[in-house]
Amino acid sequence: MNSIYESLVEIVGKEYVSIEPEELYIYSYDLGTTEPHRPDYAVAPRTTEEVQEIVKLANKEKIPVVPLGGGLSLAGLAVPLRGGIALDLKRMDTILEVNEKARYAVVECGVSQGQLTSYLDRHYPNLMHSEPGAPPQATIAGNIAIHGQGDLAQPYGFNSDMVNGLEVVLPTGEVCKFGSCSISAEWFTQHPLPDLGLFLGWSGTTGIITKVSLRLFPRKKILGRGQFVVEDEELIPEIIYKITHTEMAQDVVAFSQAIPPFSSGLHHITINLNGDSEEEIEFKQKLLWDDTLGEYIRNGDGAFLGFSRGLERPQVSKTSDWRKGGGFEYVGAIMPVETYPECYRRGREISERHDIPYTVLGRIIGRSHAMMFSWTYAFNRADPETMRQAREALHESDDLALELGGTIWKPGVYGQKLVIKRMDPDTLKLMKKIKALLDPNGIMNPGTWEVS
Ligand SMILES: Cc1cc2nc3c(=O)[nH]c(=O)nc-3n(C[C@H](O)[C@H](O)[C@H](O)COP(=O)(O)OP(=O)(O)OC[C@H]3O[C@@H](n4cnc5c(N)ncnc54)[C@H](O)[C@@H]3O)c2cc1C
Repeated sequence: MNSIYESLVEIVGKEYVSIEPEELYIYSYDLGTTEPHRPDYAVAPRTTEEVQEIVKLANKEKIPVVPLGGGLSLAGLAVPLRGGIALDLKRMDTILEVNEKARYAVVECGVSQGQLTSYLDRHYPNLMHSEPGAPPQATIAGNIAIHGQGDLAQPYGFNSDMVNGLEVVLPTGEVCKFGSCSISAEWFTQHPLPDLGLFLGWSGTTGIITKVSLRLFPRKKILGRGQFVVEDEELIPEIIYKITHTEMAQDVVAFSQAIPPFSSGLHHITINLNGDSEEEIEFKQKLLWDDTLGEYIRNGDGAFLGFSRGLERPQVSKTSDWRKGGGFEYVGAIMPVETYPECYRRGREISERHDIPYTVLGRIIGRSHAMMFSWTYAFNRADPETMRQAREALHESDDLALELGGTIWKPGVYGQKLVIKRMDPDTLKLMKKIKALLDPNGIMNPGTWEVS
């Protein structure tokens, strides 16, 4: 162990390697229900070359490497399940380029969502990226490594669909580039090169993303949100269909929760709008509230709760303290929008059976092509019984997502096993071959997405 420690110190410097138990403890858990697992080393590289050297050492010594961004994915995906090196990438935090006209940013893997947002606010106020509702410390690279979704999911899809190019350190130490950056200095497109989609959605099990080119989008001067509410969950898919048909909304989220009690059983639809002028906002509001949702108001099926200025992100974390102690985890499932009523009823039933106030939320992705439906369960970390209940509820929600024809987003180990079990055998065989080819010693985030 000493010689590995010495080698790591040689690569990144003494200040950026730790074997101190209290520091390793920090890296042993995330905010969710996964049991803690302590790494043997915590290492914070600054450059792609240092990442390469660490990976080469890990291969020689056959020790696991677990990439870590903000550590906020909740499902234990960056918890070092088999020990080894917790590879903390937060020091790789340079915004390398913003191309205003071609609307993209090239960032190192430790650049956080909040960092990019505030940089764009200051230097490019006409541009924005699709920021998730996660705490701002979440990284751009960690988010695309799990197919996250953000403010612009409704018009443009998953954040991983917005990637123009990648630099990746392979598990065997080579550095590869993907997209136009592999043949020139330009990072403006992934296409039309042969598809090598080997890293997005693999949760750090096939390589370490060190640079990302991410698409940016027009940011309008005025942002605001409207709230619409209905009692009957059966109306939600039809309403969403009509809202997305207008192509006027920036983000559309339907949610329902047990607390506060007066809103239990109601379904709120948050619609984010944007415009460069009051006229643009008024036009969009009229199209949505009067022309599209007006019929539900006239029928007495729904009510408009008003419009307010500013950007609102879905805040599942607001439910985190319902059990006192501040813990929560959610199963996010990628579902067809028409399953909203069933997702709501069945999820609410799971919550109530486990004595947890229910919180469900469906965020629309890509003009209703899919919905990220989350079932959130609060627990008190100091109370093992509430942890057990939350874990059971999470597993039942994983089962439910698949039963209803969806797939699980960023599943923990339980959900991964369900997905692997159901996977088409030839597809699974290909995944095994890819994993064995890229990571012959099985060092990358072992225990996660174990296909072989
Ligand atoms: C309150 C709350 C709200 C949230 N809301 C949203 C939301 O609206 N949308 C959304 O998408 N997510 C949301 N999340 C989930 C999650 O926080 C985000 O997806 C976040 O962007 C993950 O990034 P991270 O840097 O924390 O990743 P981490 O948790 O550090 O890593 C995620 C996975 O990617 C791997 N990884 C990390 N960095 C790299 C890299 N450079 N190369 C290869 N693999 C890597 C890790 O090993 C791990 O498997 C939310 C979480 C919380 C707590």
